[in-house]
Amino acid sequence: MTAFPAGTILGYPRIGPRRELKKAVEAFWAGKVNLQALEQTAAQLRSAVRARLEQNGLQRHDSSIPESFSFYDQVLDAAVAVGAIPARFERLREADGSIGLPAYFTIARGEGDDAPLEMTKWFDTNYHYLVPEIGPETVFSLSSERYEQQVREAAAEGFAVRPVIVGPVTLLALAKASDEAPEGFDPLSRLADLVPVYQQLLARLRAAGAEWVQLDEPALVSESLPATTEQLGAAAKDAYTLLGEANDRPAIFVAAAYAALGDNLAALAATPVEAIGLDLSRGAVPAAVAGLEGKTLVGGVIDGRNIWRGDLAAAFDKLEQLRGLGANVAAGTSTSLQHVPHDVRDETALSEQLVSWLAFADQKVQQVVTLAQGLAEGRDSIAAELGAATAALADRSSAPGVRDGAVRERAAQLSADDFVRGDYEDRRVAQQERLQLPELPLTTIGSFPQTGDIRRARARFGKGEITQEEYDAFLRAEIDGVIALQEELGLDVLVHGEPERNDMVQYFAENLDGFDVTEHGWVQSYGSRATRPSILWGDVSRPAPMTVEWSRYAQSRTSAPVKGMLTGPVTILAWSFVRDDQPLADTANQVALALRDEISDLEEAGIGVIQVDEPALRELLPLKSVDQPAYLDWSVASFRLATAGAHTDTQVHTHLCYSEFGVVIDAIRALDADVTSIEAARSRMEVVHDIAASGFNHGIGPGVYDIHSPRVPSTEEIQSLLEIAVADIPAAQLWVNPDCGLKTRGYEETTESLRNIVAATRAVRENVTAAV
Ligand code: GLN
Ligand code: ZN
Repeated sequence: MTAFPAGTILGYPRIGPRRELKKAVEAFWAGKVNLQALEQTAAQLRSAVRARLEQNGLQRHDSSIPESFSFYDQVLDAAVAVGAIPARFERLREADGSIGLPAYFTIARGEGDDAPLEMTKWFDTNYHYLVPEIGPETVFSLSSERYEQQVREAAAEGFAVRPVIVGPVTLLALAKASDEAPEGFDPLSRLADLVPVYQQLLARLRAAGAEWVQLDEPALVSESLPATTEQLGAAAKDAYTLLGEANDRPAIFVAAAYAALGDNLAALAATPVEAIGLDLSRGAVPAAVAGLEGKTLVGGVIDGRNIWRGDLAAAFDKLEQLRGLGANVAAGTSTSLQHVPHDVRDETALSEQLVSWLAFADQKVQQVVTLAQGLAEGRDSIAAELGAATAALADRSSAPGVRDGAVRERAAQLSADDFVRGDYEDRRVAQQERLQLPELPLTTIGSFPQTGDIRRARARFGKGEITQEEYDAFLRAEIDGVIALQEELGLDVLVHGEPERNDMVQYFAENLDGFDVTEHGWVQSYGSRATRPSILWGDVSRPAPMTVEWSRYAQSRTSAPVKGMLTGPVTILAWSFVRDDQPLADTANQVALALRDEISDLEEAGIGVIQVDEPALRELLPLKSVDQPAYLDWSVASFRLATAGAHTDTQVHTHLCYSEFGVVIDAIRALDADVTSIEAARSRMEVVHDIAASGFNHGIGPGVYDIHSPRVPSTEEIQSLLEIAVADIPAAQLWVNPDCGLKTRGYEETTESLRNIVAATRAVRENVTAAV
């Protein structure tokens, strides 16, 4: 068996430095290029990645270059490879039982009445994976040759790559029970049936020439899954004992990213796997366990989730410490680099100084290579690189803007009073007197469709083809249209539609000090979608009002209340790359103070309803239960700091983008927003039960329209959802709204859906009043 390479990365961005994969895949979906052309683009991208990784110091012959390509999602890749697809898509198999690329996309995106796999967040990241559906009826069988083909494709260019595949335990632990499964079915109970198929897969990879395979098992670190860490550890022990016993296989590297492996290190060490990857950027160097001799520990000391150059000397210290455990040690990234952009050298608009503090994927590869050299040749051999990184850190800590005296002074003066609003009952009465809302008030979540016209106008303004005045006039006309539409429909609390925002976080990043935005810093969010997180590098302050003019304008066009729209501190942090040199809590409070000033200016401009969106509150919840209370404390506190200055008669709304209300109910209550809107339509209001059971007594709007789908819900359908809600929750508390913002929808379906929502609400209002 060949030795594990001295340094490696757990995975590399697959979307292409200019989102080439997105463009190719979407062109294929639109019927503009054929399958062969798409496959060719993908092969070119993989080839370019291998070349790039070699250029950056990994080697072509030692399995240090991972093959982590995916057309859509790595979990779907593994599910399809082992044939774990829902019954409703079985018809898509080829005559020989295999699942081709068009079928793969259909499973990801749905077709007609066949809903796609559900999408959910991958651990505590902003990446979304597709949730496999597995039941007693699922027949596991090799159904795709993609992984082995990619090994052969690389070999043809002279590369010995290491295929990266989601492991069997994680695949099952992240799956949900299929529609056919009986109540209470646990997909993990199918492990013994699944492992033999992985065995076959490994044999095929070996036959294709793979010396090493990487099986990703992040489920082993999580305490936020239905299975306990003990159950997951026991499953891993079973699975890897069996996989390890097979002779006909590549050497196995099990990577456990996203947090500390804890006791599950011992579980893996007791199996025949040859290498184990530890996330040492989130977890500390563990204590020794039995069974490590002869194995390789891959120290994930280079953070795969942020874009900082970081403390390279400290990273090397951890690797030296890791050597104390008695295993061979290799240098690695903590996670796949799929969470960071390609190359900081692509950024021409960032200052040279900022660039010198940063490391995107390519720079992180170089850092790993440096550390690997240090492991092989001694610390002295990399002294210059360690020194340069330390100097960049020092430069960063003393650079202007990183610490802003006025911001720090203000944060230091905060007292407990700054985090509390007055009594809720007083607020409710004062707000009702001011707003005079009917029962079951109707509103939306904020954005209206971002049409091609809006995107074109923004692009033209960006290129200087239209003036600021022209662009502003365009946006005002958009707002006029959105307000008129809402009035005509008969909504009660109106929005301006957010046409000026390209993105709900980036818009604020562009208007706050302490942030920079990138040109090419795209990161895959799901499938063909990517986001461009901003870089929060310094103390945050607000040089000028950010949203007030748009809200003021919208309010001037109507006598109905217009809701001001802000993005909350937790979400701004979650969807940016955030400085790592101070606690997140401190950074969140700086953002909160900027928002607090914005709220006060909105009030001054006559805005009586203000929504502070926190869709990411759940996403940042730490994977380890010990870390959760502290997180909930600071995240809730930052929201309260942002909103607690609001007047008694200002109605504060918040919006959360998920329906796992039960998980964070205490936090939601603690936010103390007057009204909270959440997602509920897709689960047919399942959440209503949790809300009622929790005794939550503030305003609540469970969404009645699934905006993730182009489908228009009928009036009857919406009415039946509303009836579920009024049956359990007092009508005086209920709001009616869609699940989320409408920006990804078209006007036709939006208008029709909202019309049906209004009609359904009116019908339910009549019943409610009649009953009283
Ligand atoms: N106000 C935002 C919108 O409507 C909220 C989006 C979100 O929750 N992700 O677009
Ligand atoms: Zn939302």
